[in-house]
Amino acid sequence: MRAAVLRGIGEKFEITEVTIAEPQDHEVLVDVRASGLCHSDLYVVQTGGMGFGMPILLGHEIAGVVAAVGSAVSRLRVGDHVVAAALQPCGRCRACLNGRLWACANPGALDRDPEATPRLCDETGSIGQLQGLGGFAEQALIHENQLVAIDPAMPFEQAAVIGCAVVTGGGAVFNVAKVQPGQSVAVFGCGGVGLNAIQTAALAGATRVIGVDIQSEKLAMATRFGATDTIDSSRVDVVEAIGELTASEGVDHAFVMAGAPALAEAAVQVLGFDGTVYLVGATAAGTELALRTSPAESPILPKQQGIRGSWLGSSNFYHDIPMYVDLYLAGRLNLDDLVSRTIALDEINEACEALEHGGVARSVITFPARS
Ligand SMILES: [Zn+2]
Ligand SMILES: [Zn+2]
Repeated sequence: MRAAVLRGIGEKFEITEVTIAEPQDHEVLVDVRASGLCHSDLYVVQTGGMGFGMPILLGHEIAGVVAAVGSAVSRLRVGDHVVAAALQPCGRCRACLNGRLWACANPGALDRDPEATPRLCDETGSIGQLQGLGGFAEQALIHENQLVAIDPAMPFEQAAVIGCAVVTGGGAVFNVAKVQPGQSVAVFGCGGVGLNAIQTAALAGATRVIGVDIQSEKLAMATRFGATDTIDSSRVDVVEAIGELTASEGVDHAFVMAGAPALAEAAVQVLGFDGTVYLVGATAAGTELALRTSPAESPILPKQQGIRGSWLGSSNFYHDIPMYVDLYLAGRLNLDDLVSRTIALDEINEACEALEHGGVARSVITFPARS
């Protein structure tokens, strides 16, 4: 099958022929129909991410059709439409049994035995799969614990972006912040994840949803996704602007989708009483936040403010992915405007450049049905 393989940090994807193994035990062979290109793929291309070995197959926003199943697969059958998740829950530890899949105690439990035939290889040897997935290819061999069957009425392109951008942005709002009706929210960075935080905050009943970005087209999208106000932080002081919008009360929740420390520092300054900043977007190595904590200089203590991380939106994806599908099919979640461009696998390198330079919300690679 054809795949876009990354052979080294900073290199371009190589479109090449890769051999994919037959599914064993709990593995599922998926005909990939749509595969989203995400900022965290770029992050791995540029930095090596969290130390993954090369060569590697990226692509973690996958929607497709089950083509074959291993002998022990019980939850899925051939022909099911599926979405993949970028978590590898063992399904047996205390966290998994409690639905806290992101906190699984056994990372790597779903990988093949290193002594076994690799799932992917070419004439140079084995090829890794980032997070056990590998969606930049015509097919993907994935452990069943990472897949969820969805309503076949769901279009593949829109289904693919649920696996990362939607669960990350929506989960930060629904599961981590637990935004309540009447609350106020600021979202710093209105790319794919930010737009989902905006639309789910509106769904949760937040009465003020403020989108912050430096690109006017992203701010226009923020309005389309339900932002009540937008701020171009390249033109005005965002802390002052949010102070004016909230009559100096500040916001209950500030989500930081982009990695620049100045954004997180501004987010802290726009919090109200009991407000929390959520760090959602990946930051570069060496990033530090400067925080004053003295009650004489900062409201963090007297206003009981907090900063916390949010990882894939604390998602129990077995529950959350079908929920987002239902919301989309009911016309209550806008995923159509998130898929700004569909491309062929061969166009992946130029789509990466477009993503790097901003503007485009999401390119999704599509594949024709296999006969
Ligand atoms: Zn587990
Ligand atoms: Zn992603």
